[in-house]
Amino acid sequence: MTELETLEKWLSESRRAVFFGGAGVSTESGIPDFRSVDGLYNQSYDEPPETIISHSYFEARPEVFFRFYKEKMLWLDAKPNAAHRTLARLEEAGHLAAVVTQNIDGLHQAAGSRTVYELHGSVHRNYCTKCHTFFDARYVKEADGIPLCDVCGGVVKPDVVLYEEPLDPAVVEGAVEMISKADLLMVGGTSLVVYPAAGLLRYYGGDRLVLINKTPTPYDGAADLILSGKIGELLGQIDFEGKDRT
Ligand code: NAD
Repeated sequence: MTELETLEKWLSESRRAVFFGGAGVSTESGIPDFRSVDGLYNQSYDEPPETIISHSYFEARPEVFFRFYKEKMLWLDAKPNAAHRTLARLEEAGHLAAVVTQNIDGLHQAAGSRTVYELHGSVHRNYCTKCHTFFDARYVKEADGIPLCDVCGGVVKPDVVLYEEPLDPAVVEGAVEMISKADLLMVGGTSLVVYPAAGLLRYYGGDRLVLINKTPTPYDGAADLILSGKIGELLGQIDFEGKDRT
């Protein structure tokens, strides 16, 4: 049996699988990740992304923060790829219980996934730091420089978890519960070096830990199954009951 066939069989047997993913899930949708050769860490910016998208930098130099954020992190025309679509269908067919993602792009929901734990928030939610008025991502993208609230003039902050900021405890709690109850944990498109998110893997106690990545990760030694390659191409080939339902 090939690795893909094993994954297919395991998924068809699953009733509460969980997918844990990262930026690599969206590269085939045209959104760059942080660490691949063509990712954001390998582009010429004066400061590294984790400096610019940190809480203290947002406070100190919001104009540079928003220039980087709008240029490099807001991909509002991106569409879900085969990985997002397969995961949504697996949930609909009753095999997958939840998606836990480090991504902030909203593409799992756009593909139809319903139970999504967004560990690092979402570009689609933005709030005035003074009066808490809600704004959509397009408002931020189209603002001239720093987006300002049209009600009170306060700075509008994306609801994404910046470096130095804690994760939302309720989201973490929900993700931990799903992972600890999972009968299969599929981990894909993440370098597994960003903590505390990567640490959630330790809550999985089963014997079907599947890793899908283009490159090796620190968890390869712990995996029960490894699929090497592009996650959209791989998951797009998965055949399971309910796949063709739209
Ligand atoms: P990362 O950039 O550190 O790692 C991406 C991983 O995905 C790498 O190991 C790479 O080899 C792999 N990869 C890239 N394309 C792939 C593909 N098509 N198929 C399979 N594997 C592929 O990303 P991370 O681990 O998620 O951590 C970085 C942080 O970046 C996260 O906190 C996340 O919030 C943020 N981020 C999010 C987005 C997004 O929302 N789309 C984009 C960039 C960064």
